[in-house]
Amino acid sequence: MSRGYRLLTLDCPQCGAPLAAEGEDVLYYCTACYSGFRLDSETEELTSVEVSFVALPHQAAEEYRPFWRIPATIEADPHAGDSLFSPIAQFFFGDRETTGHDPGQGIFVIPAFATPLAQATTLASRYTAAFPQLGERLGEKLLGGVYSLEDAHKLAHFTFIASQVEKPGTLRDLDYKIHFSDPSLLGVPFARSGEGWEDSIFGLRG
Ligand SMILES: [Zn+2]
Repeated sequence: MSRGYRLLTLDCPQCGAPLAAEGEDVLYYCTACYSGFRLDSETEELTSVEVSFVALPHQAAEEYRPFWRIPATIEADPHAGDSLFSPIAQFFFGDRETTGHDPGQGIFVIPAFATPLAQATTLASRYTAAFPQLGERLGEKLLGGVYSLEDAHKLAHFTFIASQVEKPGTLRDLDYKIHFSDPSLLGVPFARSGEGWEDSIFGLRG
């Protein structure tokens, strides 16, 4: 038996239907009552989490993969403004008229399915910056996810920092804090492409 292996009764806490789950999943979706759940790493219990889906008009998705959708406030040195040039920073710190929210506020959209770090970072920055333009709807089927909320917080930090390092000299001066609020899940359509899979909005590898 491998370390960290868990045996859980995976019935939907909401309606009692069995939940589809694979070995390392910590996120689940009930296709009977359209409810999402995450495995709380401390209590080992299923906690309810809201789920919505990216609407993709005129095209059937082959599968929907889970992303964490985490509202956040970033506190950064006000003098760092000039160096915060990336799409993510523009999304968080751009002026209110373009972003629709106060400076420093925004929503991280972070992959929750297993994918290499480089691809996860690319998806995270693209979806975080683009999220306000994506329509949402209900229903559909959602694959399970392997990345916990704690993992997603780490990836949010990594994505934010990685977006800054392209400009030399800024990382040393980068002083920031991220405050995360209550998360939900977002189902993003993916389709087969050649050997692998791509998301159906931007055509990024997943
Ligand atoms: Zn259910």
